[in-house]
Amino acid sequence: MPAKILDGAALARTLRQGIAATARQLADAGVRPGLAVILIGSDPASQVYVRNKVRACAEAHIESWLCELAEDTSEEVVLAHIGQFNANPAVDGILVQLPLPPHLDAMRILEAVDASKDVDGLKVHSAGAVVTGTAGFRPCTPLGIMSMLKATGEALAGRHAIVVGRSVSVGKPIGLLLLEHDATVTFCHSKTPDLAAETRRADILIAAVGRANLITADMVKPGAIVIDVGINRKGDGKLCGDVEFEAVRQVAGWISPVPGGVGPMTITMLLQNTVHSAQMRLAP
Ligand code: NDP
Repeated sequence: MPAKILDGAALARTLRQGIAATARQLADAGVRPGLAVILIGSDPASQVYVRNKVRACAEAHIESWLCELAEDTSEEVVLAHIGQFNANPAVDGILVQLPLPPHLDAMRILEAVDASKDVDGLKVHSAGAVVTGTAGFRPCTPLGIMSMLKATGEALAGRHAIVVGRSVSVGKPIGLLLLEHDATVTFCHSKTPDLAAETRRADILIAAVGRANLITADMVKPGAIVIDVGINRKGDGKLCGDVEFEAVRQVAGWISPVPGGVGPMTITMLLQNTVHSAQMRLAP
């Protein structure tokens, strides 16, 4: 039997209704949630992502401010904008769209965001909260994946999770969140000698690499939950993930599609984090 589809788009629609309702209640109480988005340069993919985030805010009754800066904007100017958003009490969250132009130091810029407004969860402070399991913002993509896993109704405790990819924003934090839920976690990366031997042991397989068709059907344990984080553009311009979808679907128990899987959930978690931040403003 082919795998059940982990429909991130449908789950996102449901969750966004709840987020919008909470945002409306907060606005009625005088605290309308607000997100500031900073876009530096003219990377076409980043422009699409930012437009989607701003539109999602409007649909969820969250105010947004889009700060578009030229490619050659100096670090001082970027830091000054972040400083203004940090000081503005109407701003609950600040998102700096990555990647940044090469002359800018991403670490310095992300660290300038106030910890109470780090709704993207990318500051060292937020990473520390993930490691220690304490209160703080969780990065949006891993948070969205956890929500998708919860939607399967499958137990995570004691299951073997393989995370392919070890980036700061996706691979490492999703591994730690799975660990927090008592999964046994293995990280794989570009230096892993026999990737297939590892992935075949996975009850839960997270592919977060950015290479089309990296995960083939023979690399997947029958019945596994397969979450495809990758976003790749094919020759015909269409998007695909890291997983050979149609073939893996015949083996896996659950599989998330690309598009319509992790992507919409990532934006949904950004909205959720922004609303949580506004709730903290109302009742710290
Ligand atoms: P990075 O480029 O930061 O990390 C990629 C990881 O993949 C690295 O850890 C790298 O290993 C590993 N890797 C590269 N080649 C291989 C290989 N052949 N075998 C095993 N591992 C390999 O990417 P991100 O984590 O930021 O993003 C990963 C993918 O997810 C991208 O396609 C990105 O567009 C997508 N993405 C999607 C999101 C969504 O909302 N759907 C959100 C964020 C990202 P090493 O560390 O050794 O170099």
